[in-house]
Amino acid sequence: MPQVPEPNYDYQTDQLAALYQSAIQDILAELDRVDVSNFQRANATATLKSISGILSELNKESAAWVKENVPKAAKDGIVNTLLSLEVAASVSEAQKIAAFNEVNDAMVAAAVADTQADLLAVTQNVDRKTRAAVRKAVSDSMRYNMARGTNGRRSITEDVRKALQNSVTTGIIDARGRRWKPEVYSEMVVRTKMMETYREANTNEAVGHGVYYAQISSHGATDLCRNHEGQIIKLTEDAPGNYPTYESLKATGEIFHPRCKHVFSPIRNP
Ligand SMILES: [Zn+2]
Repeated sequence: MPQVPEPNYDYQTDQLAALYQSAIQDILAELDRVDVSNFQRANATATLKSISGILSELNKESAAWVKENVPKAAKDGIVNTLLSLEVAASVSEAQKIAAFNEVNDAMVAAAVADTQADLLAVTQNVDRKTRAAVRKAVSDSMRYNMARGTNGRRSITEDVRKALQNSVTTGIIDARGRRWKPEVYSEMVVRTKMMETYREANTNEAVGHGVYYAQISSHGATDLCRNHEGQIIKLTEDAPGNYPTYESLKATGEIFHPRCKHVFSPIRNP
């Protein structure tokens, strides 16, 4: 059987993380330009407008990235099936004949839309937080100026500046309460989504060939995934045999977790 290449999306996901990193840098530079000792509503409006511009550019770039790269992961999943079932004799031959069947067509469209929505939520979160921080900075700055002269010389300008910067760098809080920097979070989202898309496309292609089983890949994992390397799964719920499905294994949280690199290769007979 021809060797199935291990999916690796480091290059692409680094590209996406770089888009976020550079937008965040631009926003920080914008906030750094603010004169916090005399921050007026009109200046705040201009600052927020610049930040909106940076974020909408980022949305455009990341949406385009998703549209280009998520389908690639699906194609790699199909290549896996074509090689595993020896429909193709080499990677290049498999790549040539790999095509989205109807189910995969719909799945890829949904995966692209989902991923774009997840990334949009990241920029919306940054937008919301910087807006709130800028509004607070304006009122803090006004209060500072009113109190000046009567209330000693305690400078709150550094606090205001710090609060502005923190609104961008402290990041996203996920469903489990963990805190992520925006660029790290978005990279995790797309990496996870690409692997899921790979596995789903692989499944749909295999089932299209009348194949209902697969074997989980092995690369010497040290986390809980190690308990599942080489394990046989079934690709549809109603396939005979006492094997877990992809979904049921994923639900255990042991394997196919965010960032998990494990895939599976279809086999005709377990
Ligand atoms: Zn894993």
